[in-house]
Amino acid sequence: LLITLEGPEGAGKTTQALRLKAYLEARKIPVIHTREPGGTPIGDRIREILLDPQASEMSLRAEILLYAASRAQLVDQLIRPALKAGKTVICDRYVDSSIVYQAYGAEGDHEEVVEVNRMATGALVPDRTYLLDLPLEEGDRRLKERGNRKDRMELKEAAFHQRVREGFLKLAQKAPERFCVLDATEAPDQVFQRITGDLTKLQHG
Ligand code: C5P
Ligand code: MG
Repeated sequence: LLITLEGPEGAGKTTQALRLKAYLEARKIPVIHTREPGGTPIGDRIREILLDPQASEMSLRAEILLYAASRAQLVDQLIRPALKAGKTVICDRYVDSSIVYQAYGAEGDHEEVVEVNRMATGALVPDRTYLLDLPLEEGDRRLKERGNRKDRMELKEAAFHQRVREGFLKLAQKAPERFCVLDATEAPDQVFQRITGDLTKLQHG
């Protein structure tokens, strides 16, 4: 089973991913958690380039390809072998992030992003995608609270992040059989209950 978590910064993807991992482990289900961009030594080096706030000259096509390169490495080195070994894989961000950030947010060519990522993943599509939806202001508030230095993408203007949010919701509408949209303003416990409730249905349905 390949499960992905999507949504803007501050939505709680990592928190939910780690809880889900612990939950499955407690049920003796073999599981790994990984994240994008990164998740492998090569991917982590690509991540550094991608998120460097100084790299403002990066062309959009280079950006699209670097995200895809990090993903290709992750799929080949980690995700496919894990799936083949019967493990459940939980991935923090995946192809949907690329479509949304590089095509909706940065207004790159939608078909090109889809095509490049089909190649990068060998057309590996998640079984379930949890979209943690969050209003811009709330994401901003949570990021400030966290106090980390902003990465290159987080520095983009509000209109960019608005297109990202709407892009995620559009993708979810287009593929309702794969997506489960969650209100990330709810308490983490509440969000987590919805995820496990949905997974139980998925496994028995
Ligand atoms: O989720 P995480 O904080 O690890 O993501 C790192 C950054 O990469 C975020 O700012 C996110 O917006 C950005 N990103 C992106 N395009 C992708 C994947 C992630 O702009 N395809
Ligand atoms: Mg994060």
